[in-house]
Amino acid sequence: MKNVDYVIVGGGYAGIFFAHQLIAHQKSFVLFSGEQKGASQVSAGVVNPVVLKKFTTFWLAEEQIDFLTQTMSEIEKYTKQNYLIDENIQRIFHDENEKKLWLSKTETDELQPFLSSEFQKLETIANDFGTGSVKKSARLNVSAFFNDFFSYFKENNHLIQEEFDYSQISGNSYKDFTFKNLVFCEGMGVRSNPFFNDIQVIPNKGHHLKVKLSVKLNHLSTLKKKHFFFPLDDQLHYYGGTYDPNEREDQIDEFKREELILGLQEFYPHDFEIEEINFGFRPTVKDRRPILGNHPDHQNYFVYNGLGARGILNGCYFSRELYDHIENGKELMPEVDLKRFTKK
Ligand SMILES: Cc1cc2nc3c(=O)[nH]c(=O)nc-3n(C[C@H](O)[C@H](O)[C@H](O)COP(=O)(O)OP(=O)(O)OC[C@H]3O[C@@H](n4cnc5c(N)ncnc54)[C@H](O)[C@@H]3O)c2cc1C
Repeated sequence: MKNVDYVIVGGGYAGIFFAHQLIAHQKSFVLFSGEQKGASQVSAGVVNPVVLKKFTTFWLAEEQIDFLTQTMSEIEKYTKQNYLIDENIQRIFHDENEKKLWLSKTETDELQPFLSSEFQKLETIANDFGTGSVKKSARLNVSAFFNDFFSYFKENNHLIQEEFDYSQISGNSYKDFTFKNLVFCEGMGVRSNPFFNDIQVIPNKGHHLKVKLSVKLNHLSTLKKKHFFFPLDDQLHYYGGTYDPNEREDQIDEFKREELILGLQEFYPHDFEIEEINFGFRPTVKDRRPILGNHPDHQNYFVYNGLGARGILNGCYFSRELYDHIENGKELMPEVDLKRFTKK
């Protein structure tokens, strides 16, 4: 039997950012990750403090951005890589009215830190009404982040590359391990978890394309009209992700490919080749807050889920909340506490 402080199930943003807290506090752990890629690995990696449909911000946006920056510099110390690409989002305006709305929002206390009042016209793409820049936005290098973390976990004997089999849990032991705490971070996979399969997460499917452009762009920023568009490397650009709350099949929806092609053609007027299409299921919650808490009968079994469309900011920020709750007895914020669904 091997004793560990923690067993983590799932290696998406929730599992990895929670593992970072354990590394930072020198706790022992193993992380179980199955074959199937979760939503995190197909995500765009955009770090965005603004709701770009209505030009509003959201709960704790500034605190979350600051905490992400701090966490990324802690991570860099042991993976030796900086994963945050310091390129802002450029929102392509649909019309003059949108531009006026944006400008009026730049004068509010809430949005002034995030919306630039200087507009830019970009070359190569159609942007008749120009673009506005989202300050403090950035992009995560998603593939490098996951590749490096999985290598780091392997080198340090943290990674168990297999599906976690719930039927093998017995009290505080699982197969060859005994643990103090068990933290479930399975995204939509939580549906198979007999301890937490009733938590209120709703799948919101998303597709993206990886495309090769016939005419290169001369900037690296993240463009946003309907969806996000940015370079992955010298060859490929990412375009996505869609929001498909009514689609539940575990396969590519061909009509989404068409929707993405039309969306991209709206502002990229040159030829492009589709190299890949992928999809994932965001674990969303009706009140748009993550879900953290423990099982009523098994006090040391925890769930960390419901990261929604903001896996990076939510995943990073609330991993510390959960850690402080478990290790230091800090009360969970009521907004994210699992108990909000059971309390009257
Ligand atoms: C197309 C798309 C684009 C997105 N873009 C962005 C973006 O730009 N910025 C952003 O912040 N967020 C984005 N998101 C949202 C973000 O991806 C999610 O919020 C986030 O991935 C949820 O992370 P998670 O760790 O909870 O779940 P997941 O990433 O789904 O990870 C859960 C993991 O647990 C594993 N697992 C489940 N059950 C078991 C088991 N029994 N044993 C072992 N392993 C198991 C799964 O295989 C999976 O790897 C996007 C999502 C999609 C679909």
